[in-house]
Amino acid sequence: MNILITGGAGYIGSHAVKQLHALGHAVVVLDNLVRGHRAAVPTEIPFYELDLAETDRIVELLLRHEVEVVMHFAALTYVGESVQKPLWYYRNNTAGAMSLFEAMERAGVKRCVFSSTAATYGEPDEIPIRETNRQAPINPYGRSKWFVEAILRDIVAADPAFGFVALRYFNVAGAAADGTIGEDHEPETHLVPNVLYAAMGKRENITVFGTDYATPDGTCVRDYVHVDDLVEAHILAMNTLRDGDARFYNLGIGRGYSVKEILDAAKRATGRDIPTKFGARRPGDPARLYACSDAAQRELAWKPRHTSVDEIIDSAWRWHTAHPDGYDASG
Ligand code: UDP
Repeated sequence: MNILITGGAGYIGSHAVKQLHALGHAVVVLDNLVRGHRAAVPTEIPFYELDLAETDRIVELLLRHEVEVVMHFAALTYVGESVQKPLWYYRNNTAGAMSLFEAMERAGVKRCVFSSTAATYGEPDEIPIRETNRQAPINPYGRSKWFVEAILRDIVAADPAFGFVALRYFNVAGAAADGTIGEDHEPETHLVPNVLYAAMGKRENITVFGTDYATPDGTCVRDYVHVDDLVEAHILAMNTLRDGDARFYNLGIGRGYSVKEILDAAKRATGRDIPTKFGARRPGDPARLYACSDAAQRELAWKPRHTSVDEIIDSAWRWHTAHPDGYDASG
């Protein structure tokens, strides 16, 4: 298939590029490199340094490469930042998606796999979270993606030949098995890379945000899914896309790990002590979030291979130790 991957130089997008390229698909990458890394994309893959706002140029590239399906990863992804800079988030994530969809319409591309998020649920009414749960996002990031889900539904309603799958990610972590690509964010706010940076001495310590939650050990519980498993679900979704599809799947492994459990797993994986501080809750963090991903497992035949958090952290540790300065050092 001819596939456009937006955000292909980013953390998850670059893992999608790698897997799809290895499967023999013709992949094209669009990335504005605001958060992505040119070095995360192999040089033999056509690469366009473009912003999603550049509708006309996206039409050209869709036509030039005879793109059949778009995997839309390009987005800003920090909850805290979205609260500080909501307009930037809505422009990039919501208006950016609209520009992309308009380009797809003009180029006659009618298939899309969209990166959505568990943040569209907000404070869940029920745990584990099912796709049918009420969506009530509590921050601009979650809303910026939720709006895109609604726009996609409307596109299908207007054009029954369009089809999309929206995948709602839980906490994505880990790195490619060969250690060549991995997570490299600036700034980095996520738990797993920051815990490993503390183990490496790249940061002084890690602060646990809140120890008084109503969870077994008092720290927040999240559902960590390996980036390669997550990407595999995108490929399965792409392969099953049909006219008129408007499907939504949660992607998590269906098990929650607390922040303390992540710290213990990181100690095992690294064999190092992790200097830890215990701090206040981070605003906006629900106590427990984990997925029911039965629908993806049943309808997409998705089977996450990495079912323990140790495997996820091991793979992230391999990437970070091989690339202590991320992509900067590796070129
Ligand atoms: N967390 C933490 N210390 C950190 C970063 C995160 O205790 O330095 C906690 C955070 O409160 C949440 C969990 O780790 O409960 C996962 O946070 P992350 O930012 O990785 O992902 P999110 O759940 O916000 O998508």
